[in-house]
Amino acid sequence: TRLTSDTGQVAGAATEAVIVLVSDSIKVVFQVALMFYLSFWLSLGFFVIAPVVAVLINAVSGRLRRISKNIQESTGAVLDVAEEVIAGHDVVKVFGGQDYEKKRFFKAVERNRVQSMKLVATREVNVPLIQLIVALVMAGVVFIVVSGLLPQAITPGDFTAYMIAMSILLPSVKRLTAVNAVLQQGIASGIRIFEFIDELTEPDHGDVVLTDCRGRIRYRDVRFRYGADKDEALRGVTLDIQPGSMAALVGKSGAGKSTLVGLLPRFYEPSGGEIMIDEHPLARIRRQSLRAQIAYVGQDITLFNDSVKNNIAYGRAGDAIDTQAVIAAARRAYAWEFIERWPDGIDTVIGEDGVLLSGGQRQRLAIARALFKDAPILILDEATSALDTESEKYIQAGLETLMRGRTTVVIAHRLSTIKKADVIFVLADGALVESGGHEELLARGGAYAALHRLQFGA
Ligand code: ADP
Repeated sequence: TRLTSDTGQVAGAATEAVIVLVSDSIKVVFQVALMFYLSFWLSLGFFVIAPVVAVLINAVSGRLRRISKNIQESTGAVLDVAEEVIAGHDVVKVFGGQDYEKKRFFKAVERNRVQSMKLVATREVNVPLIQLIVALVMAGVVFIVVSGLLPQAITPGDFTAYMIAMSILLPSVKRLTAVNAVLQQGIASGIRIFEFIDELTEPDHGDVVLTDCRGRIRYRDVRFRYGADKDEALRGVTLDIQPGSMAALVGKSGAGKSTLVGLLPRFYEPSGGEIMIDEHPLARIRRQSLRAQIAYVGQDITLFNDSVKNNIAYGRAGDAIDTQAVIAAARRAYAWEFIERWPDGIDTVIGEDGVLLSGGQRQRLAIARALFKDAPILILDEATSALDTESEKYIQAGLETLMRGRTTVVIAHRLSTIKKADVIFVLADGALVESGGHEELLARGGAYAALHRLQFGA
């Protein structure tokens, strides 16, 4: 809503409204000046009504801004509900959520309707009200002149001119009051847009540009919390991952594995301790250069509604992409088998979020993307969902190609991965409780052995 509707409101306020504001304000000033010139005494009434009108406009403006903000928010809420229902239509159908969702949607739409009615009512009462005030003043002027109460006589000619000036004034006042609504809506939307623009950008004070990254990763007493009121998600984690090795993170759900990994590309800043790549603390590394060292394959694979080629070479799309390199990456990720069979091959557009692809195909495209990036550090969040044995075989083979020669940090869910890891870090409640090789940890009979029994029944 902020991107589309709010910007439209601001555009309206900044164009048409400004034209009316400028031209009609000038007209009003000149008409009023003329009226004072024609008859000072008659025009004194303006001193009485001006503050009344000002107070009225001020009150109405505040109300219009408030309502307008509510409308924009409730429009956002309507879109939220609609998006959720459409994306989750399968859950809604299977669990019979239609009535519940209908009510939720109706509530959101109803709120929007009520706020819109309020806006229209305020706007439409406002204009006649101000007109009424001006009309009353006109009537008062006529009454004063007719009843001879004026301390200074006015000629019939001046009086006619005075009345004409007043009747010219009226439409300008009407337009100005009407345009106030547009202006206030624009201001309310402008505030919403600037809240967004004024968000701080990610700090980037680094001066180190990594050129020859070996991929050693060290965490020293790293602490992190998601919010001041939240418990610590990491409580002083210290670990060291050698270049080119494979480290597996294991632990119960909620132990802090994803949090630990998310600190590496600086999605979040640790609240204590230090993370280093090679010999450089993360904060010293230029952000773009840091992220260039990291490839990521996760469980939720994001694909863009673009060609296979641009998806694999993501981040470089637009530059001249080396098609051969893309094909090579696809081959090594075992994705070429299915890409090849499509009529447009590598130029096939895969639809919004790759809806046309199977889970296994998506995984293989993600692996091809990471291979193409060829970064020294790989973050792998292993898929927990079971794939068919055929895809599984390809994906494992693809992943092994991908991990070769890279420092790999795996959030491990599978026994096969964990066994092969050079080092296993066991996390519990945000703390590192054990580390070592698979056999070594099993023999120790500690947290890892217990977790192992629980998860793999071995
Ligand atoms: P794991 O990956 O091991 O399952 P996470 O790193 O996702 O664990 O979560 C660690 C802790 O941090 C959990 O207690 C979780 O509830 C909390 N947490 C994770 N993400 C957020 C977030 N975005 N906001 C607040 N708390 C979060």
